[in-house]
Amino acid sequence: MQQQIYDQLGRPLRDLRISVIDQCNLRCTYCMPAEMFDHNYRFLQPEALLSFDEIEQLVTIFASVGVEKIRLTGGEPLLRKDIDVLIARLKAIQGIHDIALTTNGLMLPKYAKKLKEAGLHRINLSLDAINDEVFQAINGRDVKTAPVLKGLDAASKAGLKVKVNMVVKRGMNEQQVVPMARHFKNTGHILRFIEFMDVGNVNGWGESSVVSKQEIYNMLSEYMPLEALKPNYYGEVASRFRYQDGGGEIGIISSVTDHFCHTCTRARLSADGTLYHCLFASDGYSLKDLLREGTTSYEMKQHIMNKWNNRSNQYSALRAHQEEKKPNKIEMSYIGG
Ligand code: SAM
Ligand code: SF4
Ligand code: SF4
Repeated sequence: MQQQIYDQLGRPLRDLRISVIDQCNLRCTYCMPAEMFDHNYRFLQPEALLSFDEIEQLVTIFASVGVEKIRLTGGEPLLRKDIDVLIARLKAIQGIHDIALTTNGLMLPKYAKKLKEAGLHRINLSLDAINDEVFQAINGRDVKTAPVLKGLDAASKAGLKVKVNMVVKRGMNEQQVVPMARHFKNTGHILRFIEFMDVGNVNGWGESSVVSKQEIYNMLSEYMPLEALKPNYYGEVASRFRYQDGGGEIGIISSVTDHFCHTCTRARLSADGTLYHCLFASDGYSLKDLLREGTTSYEMKQHIMNKWNNRSNQYSALRAHQEEKKPNKIEMSYIGG
């Protein structure tokens, strides 16, 4: 039977984000810079990854304590072999109502139909620029926008709902905010702008590189007047706006300048099965080790409940008060976005 568990700040556990692989076919400068993630970099070995059986077992337990939504991410989740088989298995778990996937889109032309047939509901597609030169300079693999847009098209044609996510970083792509909005206006795809966050240790984050929600709003409304919309549900991370002329909806995700920790219902499982209660956590808890030591499902449920009951993470709420930067935060490609 499904129950609901709450943390120290009264937040229920509702969402589980699972990184299914730490490898990626791109090298976005702010996430997996090519000079660090080069041929010497030691990615996780296959046996270190959670197996599909292990993921299914864990999701079944998480569903029994209130998790309804699953997001598969990475690294690039479509590099995980037979990901559609995993999706079909997760879809069959009682209590799981929503399965989403975050992807750079490059492999969607090959997989979109299979993903839809397996039961995937939604896709968040990452695209940080509509201009080829800007995009090529960001993604570290000289990839143009056309293959990503082809992926988006394939997903739409397969009947998947697609939202487009653009990380905005000063000096990298803020001049693309308006062109991206123009490109996706009237297409039915919701474009969401994401403030550049201080995840991990390798992306050289500084407050000056954050383009704030307010700035993004101002840039857009100069050309395309907006009006605010109410959140769709408790814990929604994006502030929603609609174009006043009826051209559709956009979102702004403002983890830095207008945090949403007070409604954060998300737990994260890294590719090697470590549970984290915050995107900015530095300490996790290996559920894989427990599973491989023979912990029963009942015992695992107790562990998960105890850990969540003790949760008090609210990194973004406290960011401004941090005396010094926390060392050794987990990298985005390992914990997933
Ligand atoms: N490879 C897939 C993709 O790019 O969609 C999934 C993994 S990626 C880590 C998930 C999302 O995190 C992407 O939209 C990416 O742009 C975003 N991301 C990575 N580093 C970030 C940062 N420092 N601040 C904000 N978003 C970030
Ligand atoms: Fe890969 Fe996604 Fe990170 Fe880009 S943002 S390097 S596509 S994991
Ligand atoms: Fe949730 Fe941590 Fe982000 Fe706050 S900083 S919204 S607690 S993941």
